Amino acid sequence: MADQVDAPALDEVVRFTSELIRIDTTNRGDGACRERPAAEYAAALLAEAGLEPALLERTPGRTNVVARVEGTDPGADALLVHGHLDVVPAEAADWRVHPFSGEVRDGVVWGRGAVDMKNMDAMILAVVRSWARTGTRPRRDLVIAFTADEEASAEDGSGFLADRHAGLFEGCTEGISESGAFTFHDGRGNQLYPIAAGERGTGWLKLTARGTAGHGSKVNKANAVSRLAAAVHRIGEHRWPVRLTPTVRAALVELAGIYGLEADPDAPGFDVDAFLEKLGPTAALVEPTVRNSANPTMLRSGYKVNVVPGEAVAYVDGRYLPGGEEEFRTTLDQLTGPDVDWEFHHQEVALQAPVDTPTFARMRAAVTEFAPEGRVVPYCMSGGTDAKQFSRLGIRGYGFSPLRTPEGFDYQALFHGVDERVPVEALHFGTRVLDRFLRTA
Ligand SMILES: [Zn+2]
Repeated sequence: MADQVDAPALDEVVRFTSELIRIDTTNRGDGACRERPAAEYAAALLAEAGLEPALLERTPGRTNVVARVEGTDPGADALLVHGHLDVVPAEAADWRVHPFSGEVRDGVVWGRGAVDMKNMDAMILAVVRSWARTGTRPRRDLVIAFTADEEASAEDGSGFLADRHAGLFEGCTEGISESGAFTFHDGRGNQLYPIAAGERGTGWLKLTARGTAGHGSKVNKANAVSRLAAAVHRIGEHRWPVRLTPTVRAALVELAGIYGLEADPDAPGFDVDAFLEKLGPTAALVEPTVRNSANPTMLRSGYKVNVVPGEAVAYVDGRYLPGGEEEFRTTLDQLTGPDVDWEFHHQEVALQAPVDTPTFARMRAAVTEFAPEGRVVPYCMSGGTDAKQFSRLGIRGYGFSPLRTPEGFDYQALFHGVDERVPVEALHFGTRVLDRFLRTA
């Protein structure tokens, strides 16, 4: 039994990333996406490694793949390792290479999904196939899941799996997936590796103001448009109070250590904004997750300048912290006032996973073994992933898709961005780290 991935795995991860990119799984949220060819591709590679993947669909063509790798310790909790198969749209005219070419040029794999997240799908496949060749088994059972529909509602993907196929995830207490363990260059020579241990919740709101419809030239004491405008203004101007969650507290303490700063998030009067100010670009890792937020994004009302409409509608993109939903609701009640109703147009839970656990320590150790210069920092994601759906099964989610990228390679800008690409070296690093973590987890 080898103690790390074999050489063929390093070739395979590049080939699989490229070939998965070539299978166009664009998800526009209109139901037209077909993940099935990508799912069949992944399932065939798993079957070659001696696993028994199940193909699961709620809607024809919207295919998910689930397989279990048996661990050596039957008493250990299982670990879910998941990646989505769909990608966001790409406009070929804007790109330097065709977004679905999967071209490998000068040591870089190009195309939609190169970092979000066919790279991770390929790394998972490369690792388990390497284990089959070398007779390696992980300690814990691993449940491998490749999902459909993450880039839209997840109703055909992780939501469907969690609701209808819970049995496949039996024993899973923790999960890993996208948006973590990537290189964050801070511009001062430090290389941070943020591992996600939480996600803000999503609260997309619909505001409805009602009033008295009438002629625009008459006195109107119940104008829906002005009522709505006032509420939207109050929401947009609201300064949400700082609420430090355990994940963010841990991040602040870790960052204080790295930068030689003082930070006691528990001390009365601790000024998080002043602290973030001192962090420079690194503040971006923490800033979106010290408060709830609510940004007005859409307005709809009226049809003629001399007619007062009876109704006016606005939409607001709200996000709340783990533990922050109740405060979010009561604050919205106050900000909208008696003349404007609000409701959740779409809602997703906030997540929080502990960072003082053996699993987190093993993720940290796996990263620093291959990136000794790296400084691991827990962080909370400002948006969401499939981990939200799997949390219904009691699975605590972490963002752990290891990639080491050079300075100047703006990894985060490539998420859903133009010219999405990933260096071959980054894939090799990720495969080694993932292998180390999964076999020791
Ligand atoms: Zn993603």
